[in-house]
Amino acid sequence: MINRLAVIGVGLIGGSLSLALKEAGKVKEVIGYARSESVRQEALELGVIDRAADSIADAVNEADIIFLAVPMAAMGSVLEELLPHVKADAIITDGGSAKGQLVDIARNIMGEQLGQFVPGHPIAGTEKSGPSAAFSTLYKDHRVVLTPIDETNSSAVETVTAMWQATGADVYEMDVQHHDVVLAATSHLPHVLAFNLVGMLAERDDCDEVLHYAAGGFRDFSRIASGDAVMWRDICLSNSDAILGLIQQYKQGLSKLEDAIKSQDGDTLKAVFESAKQARDTRFK
Ligand code: NAP
Repeated sequence: MINRLAVIGVGLIGGSLSLALKEAGKVKEVIGYARSESVRQEALELGVIDRAADSIADAVNEADIIFLAVPMAAMGSVLEELLPHVKADAIITDGGSAKGQLVDIARNIMGEQLGQFVPGHPIAGTEKSGPSAAFSTLYKDHRVVLTPIDETNSSAVETVTAMWQATGADVYEMDVQHHDVVLAATSHLPHVLAFNLVGMLAERDDCDEVLHYAAGGFRDFSRIASGDAVMWRDICLSNSDAILGLIQQYKQGLSKLEDAIKSQDGDTLKAVFESAKQARDTRFK
């Protein structure tokens, strides 16, 4: 049982963790913080948190676990601001979508507190944001990846693992860099592609007509282009190396398809499509 959980950033990810732990009866009190008073009040009124703090210091000073769920670009400054106010044995963890840059920041600023930091990433989400988007079952049967580093205390990892398991999630551990490459491939690159495709179509004069005829496949593929622009900007900038590597690889694949279409090379097209179909059909039933 967690006595006091501080959630910094009470939107989809932070709010859903709070709701899940409250519903499971695994937390006594959740204190939430967001910069805007209106967001804090909304989270309080929706029952996402038990108490709204009006400063980061007030949110964390008696917390046993502190969960950071702010956009990636704000993680470092939030971490720096809260450090002087946390209890010595408090555990700090996060739900940020990329891990390398934040771990570098933590190494630079946390000193002896570094052992209490457990980097993490729930592989669950929707394209909605804010406290009203939070729901208690977001993490049920989803994966959560923790990326502890050499300095991380194993007891802190155990506590954070148990916290996520209480939400119904399956918890995995991964090396920081490996996490960032894997997530760039499965999440960050697909978002870049979807934003680019929808943005490209939106610039056409006949956009309304084109989208009028969009069928289910386009809706499926383009759904993730409804994600929050600030959040996705921050993810791209904080995991740039891995994403750029994959964009290069993707461009090579696209060129191969372009050449095959130009030269009417149906065999190449069929081979690429069959291989992709087989890869998807065997892994996603
Ligand atoms: P969200 O719904 O937009 O919530 C973000 C929250 O952070 C809001 O309460 C916002 O309120 C607060 N916030 C923003 N900047 C802040 C700052 N400088 N100090 C304190 N609070 C701040 O975003 P989310 O979808 O929950 O994403 C949160 C994190 O989870 C991100 O790092 C994201 O990469 C990660 N993540 C997202 C998903 C997803 O699918 N959405 C999945 C996995 C991981 P104010 O604006 O009022 O401050």
